[in-house]
Amino acid sequence: MARNTILVVGNTTTPADLEDLTAFAFDVADRIQLPAEVATSMAYDVTAYAGVVLYDTWLDSVPSAVLGTEALEADMFAIGADELYAYEPTKTCGHCGEVDDEAAPVLRGNTWTVSVCPSCVAEAARVALPGAPLVAAA
Ligand SMILES: [Zn+2]
Repeated sequence: MARNTILVVGNTTTPADLEDLTAFAFDVADRIQLPAEVATSMAYDVTAYAGVVLYDTWLDSVPSAVLGTEALEADMFAIGADELYAYEPTKTCGHCGEVDDEAAPVLRGNTWTVSVCPSCVAEAARVALPGAPLVAAA
């Protein structure tokens, strides 16, 4: 995955846990204004990412302990939920740069895009390849 993506790490034991973590990753993309990928296992090379955001503490899930520690050891950007919420949600479209109150990340697979405005979402949907549909934020 790309270096400009944040890896979002937390408990994914149950489908509900994964749903919570995916919802949290929306905030990560919206506030840090980088794509945010949900880590669905521990099989990630954290150094391939721009940074790591932990949903829970280091001790609350095995992925947090393992991937979080790897990020620290690599001297990477690694923050928790408390620090994340010190960032303001962005109101600027990450695609066209226009200020738009409705700018929001879009989920693609298990990765949220940067916040984009509705007209860029519509444009992306128009040009999207079959099999790579945009999924609207809940
Ligand atoms: Zn836009």
